[in-house]
Amino acid sequence: MRLHEYQAKSVFADAGIPTPDATLASSVDEVVEAAEDIGYPVAVKAQVHVGGRGKAGGIKLAESRDEAEQVADEILGMDLKGYHVDRVLVEEAVDFVNELYVGVTMDRGEGKPVAMVSTKGGVDIESVAEETPDAIAREHIDPAFGMHPYQARKVVYDAGVPRELARDVASVLQTMYQLWDDRDASEVEINPLMVTDDDEIIAADAVMNIDDDALFRQQELAEMEEETFEDDLERKASEYGFDYVRLSGNVGIIGNGAGLVMTTLDLVDYYGGEPANFLDIGGGAKAERVANALDMVFSDENVDAVVFNIFGGITRGDEVAKGINSALEQFDEIPKPVVVRLAGTNAEEGREILNDELVTVEETLEDAVQRTVEYSEEEAQ
Ligand code: GDP
Ligand code: MN
Repeated sequence: MRLHEYQAKSVFADAGIPTPDATLASSVDEVVEAAEDIGYPVAVKAQVHVGGRGKAGGIKLAESRDEAEQVADEILGMDLKGYHVDRVLVEEAVDFVNELYVGVTMDRGEGKPVAMVSTKGGVDIESVAEETPDAIAREHIDPAFGMHPYQARKVVYDAGVPRELARDVASVLQTMYQLWDDRDASEVEINPLMVTDDDEIIAADAVMNIDDDALFRQQELAEMEEETFEDDLERKASEYGFDYVRLSGNVGIIGNGAGLVMTTLDLVDYYGGEPANFLDIGGGAKAERVANALDMVFSDENVDAVVFNIFGGITRGDEVAKGINSALEQFDEIPKPVVVRLAGTNAEEGREILNDELVTVEETLEDAVQRTVEYSEEEAQ
């Protein structure tokens, strides 16, 4: 689960990390009201889960009431790399002389968390990491002992942070590691950690990702999740307990098992189609789960055709077929063509049971995907 900037900042601020004065707003009027309250200049920042908002036009400064109104109007409602912006963070703009990068993430190669600091923070940290990796200092942490104060000082020193800032930056890093550990985070990051001309530091951006499997013991953060869904389909998927990712194409994909769904995505692409989603309904395919999955793909207005890729393991093919039939029988009219490929235990019995007035049945995965791509092209016309 990924927190929004405003949520991560509130967690950081509660832990004692300096953050700018800020208010969340969802209309032009609210932006202006917040800006008048905070005082100019303000930064108006799109709250969507994409990196590089600055470069994409999702972050703008306003020096006056008129400008606040204008940038609010530009950013609210805009499409930012495929995401609709309906909320912005209005924030006291920081006057900075330098931008640092600080973060803690998991180094899977080492099997340990790693703390990272760089004096080359700001919007281009990805290219810094690629072109001059030495400009990012790293220190691995033994999770059994936590981050020792000397480790925080060392990585800050290695990064070349000026003396007069070193103590404060080390203390922020120490707090971030504590948050990483206490809150079951997979990643915490501040980029940029802005430095003002009087040597204050302030977190101008905040990233915090939480391990989904730990949400059961992170009640406060789990409650924030509700607010983080970018659209209704993601919310629905979470209610139904599906693994779901919305993509930009028009071929709906449903399967039981992540690998199976990934393979289907690849094949759709191979045959010239464009996947509309990743949807893994998990083990079993009882009528209710199948109906819920269909509800999801049918309510995605981008979907023109649907392919079901089911492998009967413990759940037998005939059971799945009954599930698909009864799910489809609930519709007066099937809104979009559905193609089914059934393999594994009792696949043949399953294929016989499937009602071919409601679905197209194909024996091989290749045929099923090709057929679905054809349907999607016909429907799209
Ligand atoms: P990101 O592009 O999505 O990572 O968004 P950031 O919050 O990191 O902002 C990107 C860039 O916008 C920063 O590196 C700054 O250069 C600029 N920026 C963000 N907030 C402020 C602010 O309060 N004051 C000023 N002057 N610039 C800001
Ligand atoms: Mn950033």
